[in-house]
Amino acid sequence: MSDVGIAIVGAGFGGLGMGIKLKQAGIEDFVILDRDSDVGGTWHANTYPGCQCDVASNLYSFSFAPNPDWSRTYALQPEIWRYLRGIAERYGLLPHVRLETEVTDARWDDEANRWQIETSQGPLTAELMIAAPGGLSEPSVPAIPGLDEFEGKVLHTARWDGDYDFTGKRVAVVGTGASAIQAVPELQEVAEHVTVFQRTPPWIMPHVDRPVTKLESHLYRRFPVLQRLARGRTYWLNEMRVPAFVYQPALLKLVEKIARRHIARQVPDPALRAKLTPDYRIGCKRILPSNKWYPALVAPNVDVAFGGLEEVRPSGVVTPEGELREVDAIVFATGFRVTDLPIADSIHGRDGTSLADVWQGSPQMYRGSSIAGFPNLFFIAGYNTGLGHNSIVFMIESHLNYVMDALRRMDVTGTNRVEVRPDAQAAYNARLQARMPRTVWNTGGCASWYIDRNGRNTTMWPDFTWRFWQETREFDAERYELTAVEPAVRAAA
Ligand code: NAP
Repeated sequence: MSDVGIAIVGAGFGGLGMGIKLKQAGIEDFVILDRDSDVGGTWHANTYPGCQCDVASNLYSFSFAPNPDWSRTYALQPEIWRYLRGIAERYGLLPHVRLETEVTDARWDDEANRWQIETSQGPLTAELMIAAPGGLSEPSVPAIPGLDEFEGKVLHTARWDGDYDFTGKRVAVVGTGASAIQAVPELQEVAEHVTVFQRTPPWIMPHVDRPVTKLESHLYRRFPVLQRLARGRTYWLNEMRVPAFVYQPALLKLVEKIARRHIARQVPDPALRAKLTPDYRIGCKRILPSNKWYPALVAPNVDVAFGGLEEVRPSGVVTPEGELREVDAIVFATGFRVTDLPIADSIHGRDGTSLADVWQGSPQMYRGSSIAGFPNLFFIAGYNTGLGHNSIVFMIESHLNYVMDALRRMDVTGTNRVEVRPDAQAAYNARLQARMPRTVWNTGGCASWYIDRNGRNTTMWPDFTWRFWQETREFDAERYELTAVEPAVRAAA
């Protein structure tokens, strides 16, 4: 059994960023656990063709580690993964990383004042646990009758098999979200035929992605301030969308006009266009940028099945019209388990109850990071930190500062136990939820994974992101119980 000061769970943007901040503060007694075979989190796990970030790369990167060498304004997955891998090397994180190490159970031991953590590679204990599991990390595959008997290949976009060759294959793709709109145009180019199952059409905007010129890269390298300015410009333009998303969703009708013009230009057939046009307010689900989605759907080797996939047979899928469509592969682009993250079943607090049992389907955190009853635990970009308009890396960095300030406070006060007060958590969530009824996510007339099974919006941050930064800039110790547990008994090694 090893015994560490801090156990970070997850080696994506959140976990790696946390490791960097700890090292910069001279803290070396930490490990970063990740179940995957390399660092990078979602950017290592998602390798489907076309995978790209729809947030501009100058902003979707750490503010303290700009990359002047992005090849495109919106980088593709391999490049983002290389960026993260490079960061892990550059900041000396790799000796701290334990790969293929999945946390299967974590229990707070009140007497020892430590987390007792079980992993797929054996147990360890930690004084503090920092969970950065990512909100979009657990693939969701619907339970479809007959799927087990399907004789072809089954994939999920977030668990891609790069060895499977789609050339000349007949493929069914289930879903039309962010992952599908990137994968389908690539599959369409090589497959014999693609059938896309569309349950709800997404709103698609023109994409402004383009290659970064050599001159731009050169200038970014020579004058880093220019890249900071470009980053700032993108950030503030994105923030301008908040009033419409949060306060006045009717303003989004103007954005719908642009999306309608986009589809009118790319889908000439009015009957098909009508079926591909959403009937809910834009922004209710994530707005997706693509210039390739509609051209792929109107390609001769693609057809759209309008409805969900409800039945699979050994040789293929059954369309909503009841017709068997023989296929070689089914691609599930069906998203993630967001409001019921499995890690919530594994983390048990002071009284032994798991997070999932405490939450009962409606996760609640204080400032998206701490939870009453779960001492010495912080999440990075936990619930209600999700964004539809800006970069999650900004939220992650805000949390890194918050946690570092908490550690400093514990250090100067000589305390070794920190737990948010239940009343502070309740008041925070009441304030947060009071903002939700007006937002486009709650009023837009769509069903989305932003809303949990009890009808609460437990995923999104309903405000400007700079407000989040403001609120997490300093650790608000008065909302926590900070205690010195004497003696801080160390678990037997
Ligand atoms: P998603 O947005 O949750 O989309 C899942 C899709 O599957 C939806 O179209 C859903 O239809 C459909 N679906 C689910 N079950 C179905 C069934 N039985 N039959 C037919 N359709 C079914 O998942 P995602 O596309 O993986 O994206 C999830 C999130 O990941 C995004 O919102 C984004 O935050 C992130 N992401 C980001 C990027 C990026 O560029 N930055 C790329 C990929 C993913 P309904 O709409 O009817 O539920």
